[in-house]
Amino acid sequence: MEQNFQNILQQNQLKVTATRLSVLELIASRNAATSQPYLEKNINKEIDRVTLYRTLRTFEEKGILHKVIDLNGTANYAMCSDNCTAGHHHDEHFHFNCTQCHQLYCMNDFHFPPFQMPAGFKSQSINLLISGTCAQCNKMDN
Ligand SMILES: [Zn+2]
Ligand SMILES: [Zn+2]
Ligand SMILES: [Zn+2]
Repeated sequence: MEQNFQNILQQNQLKVTATRLSVLELIASRNAATSQPYLEKNINKEIDRVTLYRTLRTFEEKGILHKVIDLNGTANYAMCSDNCTAGHHHDEHFHFNCTQCHQLYCMNDFHFPPFQMPAGFKSQSINLLISGTCAQCNKMDN
């Protein structure tokens, strides 16, 4: 998938900065969600932690990235689908957390049936986390 990160930033009225571009590039280049510790370790060393957190929060607010908390309580970030907009995420897909390699995957093609909240309840976000062993780990076991 070819993605133009400058366009993503401009479409969201964000100034194009080297920090924002490198965060997006790193997260989009991986086939699993990216954990905060991984980002801290692998991002350009010139980007300090505060700037990194602020950048992640901005992307989350703008509907560019969604945050997923894994089984260990660590924050992970993944690219949003096209229909996410500022303040309105539609990443109602399952996430899969591998108990062996600890990768967290977005199960984008795996939808669940619509459901109704009980009277009086108003949902804001849905957290769907499956744990198990991923395809990569299962392959190595065989
Ligand atoms: Zn989203
Ligand atoms: Zn795995
Ligand atoms: Zn996801």
